Amino acid sequence: MGETRDNDAYEEELLDYEEEEEKAPDSVTAKVNGEAAKKGYVGIHSSGFRDFLLKPELLRAIVDSGFEHPSEVQHECIPQAILGMDVICQAKSGMGKTAVFVLSSLQQIEPSPGQVIALVLCHTRELAYQICHEFERFSTYLPDIKVAVFYGGVNIKVHKDLLKNECPHIVVGTPGRILALARDKDLSLKNVRHFILDECDKMLESLDMRRDVQEIFKMTPHDKQVMMFSATLSKEIRPVCKKFMQDPMEIYVDDEAKLTLHGLVQHYIKLSELEKNRKLNDLLDALDFNQVVIFVKSVNRAAELNKLLVECNFPSICIHSGMSQEERLTRYKGFKEGHKRILVATDLVGRGIDIERVNIVINYDMPDSADTYLHRVGRAGRFGTKGLAITFVSSASDSDVLNQVQERFEVDIKELPEQIDTSTYMPS
Ligand code: ADP
Repeated sequence: MGETRDNDAYEEELLDYEEEEEKAPDSVTAKVNGEAAKKGYVGIHSSGFRDFLLKPELLRAIVDSGFEHPSEVQHECIPQAILGMDVICQAKSGMGKTAVFVLSSLQQIEPSPGQVIALVLCHTRELAYQICHEFERFSTYLPDIKVAVFYGGVNIKVHKDLLKNECPHIVVGTPGRILALARDKDLSLKNVRHFILDECDKMLESLDMRRDVQEIFKMTPHDKQVMMFSATLSKEIRPVCKKFMQDPMEIYVDDEAKLTLHGLVQHYIKLSELEKNRKLNDLLDALDFNQVVIFVKSVNRAAELNKLLVECNFPSICIHSGMSQEERLTRYKGFKEGHKRILVATDLVGRGIDIERVNIVINYDMPDSADTYLHRVGRAGRFGTKGLAITFVSSASDSDVLNQVQERFEVDIKELPEQIDTSTYMPS
């Protein structure tokens, strides 16, 4: 499916960024010691995007987006990435990794008709959709460059027709569908110059997905730029990633111990399984929030909990893998655009998804690992904004995971106090 540009969604996005801008200081030095210093994109780098010598069309789109200063990861990666170097990059969620590969591909691409020049693979359909949207946003003034997104759950004939009639220069997709299209020779990868994996650890850790990625990789030319990104890149997975690259530039903006999210207040609540609904109800009544995501461990629980919340008149929706693709995406968009304020989700939404208004994450069910915890709570407090994460602990194994989280990220997560100061987690 080729995503057509949706102007309303565009407007919405732009408004968001303007809001973000208002909160951001204009002067780099003025507030270095204040809140601003916590934001990755302010800090010491006073040089702007202009210094990267990007195409004027790109700079214009950057200005429209309200990005004033490159984030740390952008500052580190973009100058090399636009020269075609291979890049492997770990930086915590919300640091603006997407813009690194979006801008550096757009900078380098010379579109020629019928040729797919950049291929971006990621592990969920929602993320693919979001990345495609970023490409569209930054290519507003490069009308010759066409982008399309392909993932399963959509009739493959639609994708095949699109490739035949209106071949995009940039393809974003999930490995299964991309492989199917490439095997059937509808998608030719022989002109690919930029091969990008987002959430690369997730894609290479699962052996099935790794196999698909490898097969796709082999269909691309030897001589190309490879870029990989994630918030979590264990020591074990790094060499696996590097096998796909040639002498990559390695950027680890934060080492894992420091991955604690700045500006995020984290608490837990000990309770029994039976007390969860009551407690959740109380919290939703008591807390101030813009939008909240509630994570549960299974599809059934997501549906049930959402039903309960709706019955109690909370503005809630849910997303899980048991739904049709179309339904999932409509709901995701609806939430992103702020039509509902509460999202009940499984870990499907845990990774990479960027929803700016979310300032509270509740782990109704404990995540299965410290990594999953990080990805889930990364939904709140994106890009240096404030946020609150509350985790329900109802069993010994829940406590074990909580302890792993504390050790791994060197945080001390305390029990939720009776009263919590709204200003610690609400954006000012
Ligand atoms: P990551 O991929 O590292 O998790 P994203 O690329 O999703 O982070 O970026 C998080 C949010 O920050 C997005 O809404 C993005 O548009 C915004 N953003 C990225 N770079 C900048 C910047 N330099 N200035 C302001 N906002 C930015």
